[in-house]
Amino acid sequence: MKPEEVFEYFRRLAEANPSPTTELESGNPYQLLVAVVLSAQATDASVNIACRPLFARIKTPRQMVDFGEEALRDAIKTIGLFNTKAKNVIALSEALIANHGGDVPRTREALQALPGVGRKTANVVLNTAFGEETFAVDTHVFRVCNRTGLAPGKTVDEVEAKLEKLVPQPFRRDAHHWLILHGRYTCKARLPECWRCPVIDLCRYKPKTPPPEERVKPSAARTAIRGSSAARTAKGRTASTRSANRSRSRPSRLP
Ligand code: SF4
Repeated sequence: MKPEEVFEYFRRLAEANPSPTTELESGNPYQLLVAVVLSAQATDASVNIACRPLFARIKTPRQMVDFGEEALRDAIKTIGLFNTKAKNVIALSEALIANHGGDVPRTREALQALPGVGRKTANVVLNTAFGEETFAVDTHVFRVCNRTGLAPGKTVDEVEAKLEKLVPQPFRRDAHHWLILHGRYTCKARLPECWRCPVIDLCRYKPKTPPPEERVKPSAARTAIRGSSAARTAKGRTASTRSANRSRSRPSRLP
């Protein structure tokens, strides 16, 4: 995309949602860090359900360590990979107490040194808790960037590097939220809802998904196919009946 198209792309996403943010619920940077670690390969909704009662009583790394791994495992057992995640959350809480006075560090290096914290998690925390202009590339951002031609890349690192280079001000701080939300609710994985997309004319994806009323419903298509094959069968039967009748009415050549 040309720079002016990229600007227009984000201008429209921003117009549609002026104050985007993460859908993960948290009350402070520590809770956000825990929620993001728990959200790997899980939905934000499932993490929120498990974390609401947990965060009502656990607000600091010290409280989490005192709570203990077994109790944490039980509290998050509805989230995928909860065994490993419980281990990581306790270990990262211990590391925060030992190395950062119980605070969440503000650098990528220090965040990524924590157990269970990768580049994407560090980017989300730096952006959402500390207002840094970082570009967390999750499955939605990766898909949207490749599908639309905004920032195509074979790996998440490649897509992130491209976003870093091309996203203009004043959209840098919230760009990744707009892209996540756009991917989650409009440019969906299985069927992008192009007919109601605000950036349809800027997007390189073809073919565009038409509105539901212009699409043939699978049941209607099945009925149409059944109808035409039934018509063909009936036609076939009529033709063979006629030919049978003709042959019955023909005089036999046999003596
Ligand atoms: S037009 Fe369709 S494919 Fe392109 S960004 Fe919009 S929803 Fe996604």
